[in-house]
Parts: sequence; structure tokens; C-alpha cells
Amino acid sequence: MRRILWFRRDLRVDDNPLLALGGEVLPIFIFDKNILTQLDRKDRRVSFIFLRILKLKEQLQEKGLDLKLFFADPVDVFFSLASLGFDEVAASGDYDAYSRERDRKVSHILPFNYLHDTYIFKPDEILKTDQTPYLVFTPFYKKAKSLFTNAHIHTYPFCKQKLYPSDYNGITKLDNTQQDVLKTEVASIGFTSVPCPCEEPHTILNTFELQHYEKHRDFPYLDRTSKLSLHLRFGTLSIRELLRFLSRQKRAGIPTEAFFRQLVFREFYAYLLYHFPRIEKENYKYRFKGIPDTKRYADFCEAKTGVPIVDAGINELLQTGYMHNRVRMICASFFTKDLLLPWQWGESFFAKHLLDYDAASNILSWQWSAGTGIDPQPYFRIFNPYLQSKKFDKEACYIKQYCPALKTVEAKLLHDEQALFELTLPGYPRPIVRHREAAHEALKHFKRGL
Ligand code: FAD
Repeated sequence: MRRILWFRRDLRVDDNPLLALGGEVLPIFIFDKNILTQLDRKDRRVSFIFLRILKLKEQLQEKGLDLKLFFADPVDVFFSLASLGFDEVAASGDYDAYSRERDRKVSHILPFNYLHDTYIFKPDEILKTDQTPYLVFTPFYKKAKSLFTNAHIHTYPFCKQKLYPSDYNGITKLDNTQQDVLKTEVASIGFTSVPCPCEEPHTILNTFELQHYEKHRDFPYLDRTSKLSLHLRFGTLSIRELLRFLSRQKRAGIPTEAFFRQLVFREFYAYLLYHFPRIEKENYKYRFKGIPDTKRYADFCEAKTGVPIVDAGINELLQTGYMHNRVRMICASFFTKDLLLPWQWGESFFAKHLLDYDAASNILSWQWSAGTGIDPQPYFRIFNPYLQSKKFDKEACYIKQYCPALKTVEAKLLHDEQALFELTLPGYPRPIVRHREAAHEALKHFKRGL
């Protein structure tokens, strides 16, 4: 069997089903022009992917293989390879609308062998007794736990493969019928290299303190979550390896349930996007679509809302490409309920800046915060950002870290909306909305759109 191994969300050699197939192989990675043209030239994710691709190429070379790089529309790549006698393209699943449509087109050029890798469960593995998808997390979670077996943490062995003879140097650029070989550097695909510090997944697994995860995970100033989302997004860590780590921890008496539950949230969101593709752009429920307001949007994106925990979150995102989960929830609620902006605007702002951006987790989380999603989260559950910051960042350590203008302000004033309206804080704006009034307004709009 002669096959093309298409690396996408699985940028690793260990425990990769793609490398367990055997036969004669042409391993490839495509810098997809359709995606890259939409990104900022300094997008951190491109630098991250580039580094990981070089590492993957090296690791494959150590195993007697290699990685051929393309800069092109994937459909053009497969058209150019179709006449070379390959039996199939093998790749692991990708669930957003663009990826599914792209794969559908590729499957018309060469037979497509879909492998299961990115998630614990296959999209059709967890269904209700009537064979329809779950809509509510808790029963999905219960079913997931009941179906979970050792097969879900199986390690894929590296299988001996013969490398298909080709020129593996540089980046092959395809433009319709034009072909060019570019230097292997970020500039060749039109981007500027930016530093993108992140810990290796194995270093994280060796040092992560799971013991107190449940107690600490909601407090952004403690910084005690795993930061594995980026590695799960690009497959630089196998989900099964992470599960094996959890299983070892469990055997050592360390509580793992809270962490496992978050991983199942990730599954659930990918599952919902797979079964209900229309939610990528549309509300699942309620007609209210938000009120477009470019001034409010700009204040939010520039961390000028005057609500300290929200501005701190946005600054964390802009500076690091990451935002703590609790703060993501506070910001998304503020955006959709206090500012009444369309959730799709917030979703694309996060999509632009999050290093761990994942369509399913981002879209479904935004719909959850807006109250327009599939889950039973009602539209009238609105976060009060001041109560949230008082509870989860009492001493305002996180706020002060990311809003230096507030460094000398007494912590309790930063959770007090009235004080923030009355004080003049050099270099920091007054709140742009009053929470109570804004929440009241949101309820009115949502009720009207029922
Ligand atoms: P940990 O707490 O260590 O959790 C371990 C893993 O579980 C994470 O790496 C992640 O894969 C998964 N996970 C944790 N929390 C969630 C959650 N609430 N939903 C789904 N999966 C979860 N996550 C993304 O990976 N990409 C996104 O684009 C994304 N956008 C989000 C947007 C909003 C508005 C919200 C509220 C949440 C979003 N999340 C997203 C989920 C969550 O915030 C991140 O996965 C988490 O903050 C990543 O940090 P961590 O790896 O330290 O998480």
C-alpha cells in the first residue's frame, strides 16, 4: 500500500495512528493558503506551528522518514500528487466546517482514510438510546464514563515504513500550475517569526500538580491549570498519553475526576459541532442576535471597558495569547450580556488571539456564555463581573499583574462598581456600562427574542 500521510492536528511522532499504518509513505504538511491569508502577518500560532513542524521533520528523519512541506491550497496539493500512484490519503479527523468541506473535496481526488486521534471518543460513539446525539453535558459525561475502556488509552506503535522517494528540501509552493521551492523559513510563507515561549508537553506532565487542580483551577492569579490546551490543539501531545498520565495519577491516589471532566467538555464541544454544524455561525436557540456597536467593541478589544477583571483578561490575551478559563467566561458574559454585542464578534476576536484557538471549544463556549447554545444554560444567568473578581481574585493580584495602572489601588475598590465610577484613576477609564442596568437591558432583549 502506498499512502500520503497528511499531518494536521497531530504534530508528533509518538503514539500517532498515522505512523502505525506501515507501507510506503509520503509524509506531508501543508501550510494552507486559504487559512494563512486571513491571519495577521505576526500571528504567534504560525511561528508555533513552524517550530513544531521543524521538530516533527527532525523526529521523522531520525526514524528514517521525512516530511515534505507545501505552501498551497490543499486541493491543489492532492491534484498534483494524484497521478503518482498513491492508494490513499490518511489523516486524522478535523470537525469544523472548513476542514470537513476541504476533506470532502480531497476525498474526490484520492480515497480518504480517516483516522481517529484528536479526541477520546469517535463522534458517533456516544449516542442516546434512540441513537441521536446528547444535547446536555451531564448525561453525555455519564455515558462517556460508562463507555470508557482501556482501548481509549491504547498506544499506537511506530510501524516500520518505506519512505516514498521525493525531494524533501524546502517548502514546495503551488500556485495553480506554477511550482516553486522556497527556503524553510517563516518568511517564505509571508510571516514574521515571533517568540512563542511555551513549555514542552512532557515537562508539563512531569511538573503539573494535579493534586489541588479542582480547588485551584478557578483562581486566575494562582495559575494552576495545565496550559495543555495548545498541545491538545496541535496534537503535540496525544490525548491518549494524557489519559495514561491521569490513570497513573489515579493509581497513585491523586484525584483526577475534575481534570478528566474538563477533557470531556472538550469532547462534548467537538461532538456538538460535528453533529450540529450550523452552530458554527448561528444561535442554536433564541432569536436575539446582539446589537452591533463598534465603539463598545473597540473598548473591549483594547481593554478599555473600565471593568478591571475584564480588562486584565484582555491584556493577558493580547500579551500572552492565553487567557485563564474563569476570566474567559467573565469576559464572554460581559461581552454578550453587559455590552450586548453579537457573540460571533467576540468569538472571532478570541479566534484571532488565542494560541490554543479551537473552533469547537471557542464557538460552543461563546454560545454557552451568550446563553444561545445547545446546553440548558438559560439566557437569564448573567455573571456580575465585580462579584466574580471579588470571589476569584480577591486581592486583585491577577488584575494588577495585567492592568499595571491599577497597581496601587486598594484591591477592594477594584471589585466595587460604584467606587470605580466615582474615582479618578490615572491611566484607567471609568466603566463604560453599569452592570445592573446592562443586565436588565439584556434580559429585555432576550425575552423579546424567545
Ligand atoms: P486546564 O484547566 O488545565 O484543562 C485541561 C484541558 O481540558 C484543557 O487543556 C482543555 O483542552 C480542556 N478544557 C478545560 N476547560 C475547558 C472548557 N471549559 N471547555 C472545553 N475544554 C476545556 N479552549 C480551547 O482549547 N480553545 C479555545 O479556543 C477556547 N476558547 C474558549 C472561549 C471561551 C469564551 C471560554 C469560556 C472557554 C474557552 N476554552 C477554549 C476552554 C478553556 O478556557 C481552555 O481550554 C482552558 O482555559 C485552557 O487552559 P488549560 O489547558 O490550562 O486548562
